[in-house]
Amino acid sequence: MKRSISQRSRGRFTYWLKLTIDLIFPPRCAGCDVAGRVWCEECNDRIIAPKGRSCPACGFPLEKGIICSICEDWPSRVHVRPFAHYRKPLRSAILKLKYRSDQALANEMASWLISVYHRTGWIADCVVPVPLADVRLRQRGYNQVALIVASFAKELKLLSFTNALKRVRETQSQVGLDRQERHQNVEGAFRADPRIVQDQSIVLIDDLLTSGATMKNCAIALLNSGAVQVFCLTVGRA
Ligand SMILES: [Zn+2]
Ligand SMILES: [Zn+2]
Repeated sequence: MKRSISQRSRGRFTYWLKLTIDLIFPPRCAGCDVAGRVWCEECNDRIIAPKGRSCPACGFPLEKGIICSICEDWPSRVHVRPFAHYRKPLRSAILKLKYRSDQALANEMASWLISVYHRTGWIADCVVPVPLADVRLRQRGYNQVALIVASFAKELKLLSFTNALKRVRETQSQVGLDRQERHQNVEGAFRADPRIVQDQSIVLIDDLLTSGATMKNCAIALLNSGAVQVFCLTVGRA
């Protein structure tokens, strides 16, 4: 499709505006705060990728058994792949995106998830973010996961639907709850729109996998509304 002259000049204007802002306020690394880029080479080298004897479902190290505690009771049409361990400097980047709407940092995270997606060989139709609680969305003004989803979908030329999943009841924060309480807290808390998700293979994205309760309940809501498969990607795994 040909771009109009006004679209081209708007694109050039955005490019120069960004360049000027970057010169005046150089971006700082989300991992170590050094000026220059949103994510520096040193921090990139310090990302701790999963390795060793691993869970066949999520690819993370197994201490005992044949499947990890997060994956043991997931539905069979749901697949999970976190990118890396939730440790510094990755942890700093995830926290930073929660408190500042930074599309450049979200683009960086999307590129990490795209590398995981390509390794798995999954073939999805569309991308959906885990929705933020309404109260959080009002406080924060944006869903940090939706920023990652937008970039992920654009790069892979997939459709993205930020409204495919909704929280149908408020849940308390998962912080401080044990594994069983986390599951009870979010059980049945999500509903998916069948007009969007019916017959779709869906990439579901979140920033962090802790007990897996939120992601699992979102995936179940998608399957209950007719999704064929759900591929879960997260940036960190606690
Ligand atoms: Zn850094
Ligand atoms: Zn696992």
